[in-house]
Amino acid sequence: MSLRSRLLAGWHLLRWREFAARPGHCPFCGATLLLRLQREGTSLRCIRCAASAVHMSIG
Ligand SMILES: [Zn+2]
Repeated sequence: MSLRSRLLAGWHLLRWREFAARPGHCPFCGATLLLRLQREGTSLRCIRCAASAVHMSIG
């Protein structure tokens, strides 16, 4: 999946008032930036591989 299509897919989930980014650790790509798109915990995404909270918990 290209970066552009990832951004477009995330765009409709995005709520700017709940948006947050913080440094974190992804089990697939290591140190990364984690984006929170909504208040719910499941909307957490890795900015490098686009893994969701579910993917990261499996990893
Ligand atoms: Zn990742």
